Amino acid sequence: MALIVQKYGGTSVGDIARIRNVAQKVAAARARGDQVVVVVSAMSGETNRLIGLAQEISDQPDPREYDQIVATGEQVTIGLLALALQAIGVPARSFLGHQVPIRTDSAHSKARIAGIDGDAIRAGLDRGEVAVVAGFQGVDPRGDITTLGRGGSDTTGVALAAALGADECQIYTDVDGVYTTDPRVEPRARRLEQITFEEMLELASLGSKVLQIRAVEFAGKYRVPLRVLSTFDEGPGTLITLDQEAEGVESPLISGIAFNRDEAQVTLLGVPDRPGIAARVLGPVGAANIEVDMIVQNVGADATTDFTFTVHKNDYARALEIVGQICRDLGARDVKGDDNIAKVSIVGVGMRSHAGIASQTFEALAAENINIRMISTSEIKISVVIEEKYVELAVRSLHRAFKLDEQPPAG
Ligand code: ASP
Ligand code: MG
Repeated sequence: MALIVQKYGGTSVGDIARIRNVAQKVAAARARGDQVVVVVSAMSGETNRLIGLAQEISDQPDPREYDQIVATGEQVTIGLLALALQAIGVPARSFLGHQVPIRTDSAHSKARIAGIDGDAIRAGLDRGEVAVVAGFQGVDPRGDITTLGRGGSDTTGVALAAALGADECQIYTDVDGVYTTDPRVEPRARRLEQITFEEMLELASLGSKVLQIRAVEFAGKYRVPLRVLSTFDEGPGTLITLDQEAEGVESPLISGIAFNRDEAQVTLLGVPDRPGIAARVLGPVGAANIEVDMIVQNVGADATTDFTFTVHKNDYARALEIVGQICRDLGARDVKGDDNIAKVSIVGVGMRSHAGIASQTFEALAAENINIRMISTSEIKISVVIEEKYVELAVRSLHRAFKLDEQPPAG
């Protein structure tokens, strides 16, 4: 008998028919002899609706009251799913965050889980019940309701799986796994049988929306076997593993390609080249709470430097303003900006043991006449900034160059 935590997202519980479908899936797992804990999100669109209501009254709602409001979506779905399970003869009991309890810090709207007491859930499982737990919410030391940030039900699922020592945490969603890239851009994209936590973490932070980043971090840290699979189709989904070799499959060079159209670039031209320039430029940007992604500095022959960095498009106007001021203060030549850029990244643990991935990447882009503006690398990732209009072409040519549409050799 295995203990499985299943998490169902908003689309999976979007209406009563779908909630009944989830109840059937839970019942099937239970019929196979497994104990099941289910975590659910609010019905799709509901959390946005609740946030909208709060914002109709205040554009900066009191954080405690905000959480009281936005946590209610999950209260409805746990009750409905428990009813749907009971209706098909499966004993079930729903739990709000504080009824588990899932203890968090007091950082409303982005709380972190501090600990989970699994006793009440275990007692229910021992009585033969399915536990249906509200995702996204917890309770702080004062007894106030907190929420974990958008998409936080993934984290609830993984944290519960860790606390209960579950055999697997299954994240049910509207796609049937993790893909080599977005199938809307490259129709030949392929579902991955497995991917490592490290790769998944890179892909999540590069903008793949399949899993919340914190859930992946949590699963890696507590070694929770994690699987992404579809609520609407049968299939094995994608297993997120600690180590690909351990699964007996030779790791492919590249596992996935991510892209992000949300960045903009700011360049400070002709800065006198002396120590402290990077700090002088990025200090005020950081102080304005603007997150900087890529940074490039090139020193010219005339002892001046061009300094370029990228920020989220939402912060572009502010960043330009701040750097404009710095330009005047430092006597630099000019400030330029461009928000028609995109970042394309290839990710794969195979890069560690293979040379030449970078040159293969650049050759593939050059063959399409795509100019690379910036490059950044980590041990398992290469990112390039290019003109936004070439994103799809770049993704498709890299997908082809690294043969991502072909099945990897089975081990
Ligand atoms: N309902 C919350 C949200 O929409 C949490 C979740 O779905 O994971 O962000
Ligand atoms: Mg989600």
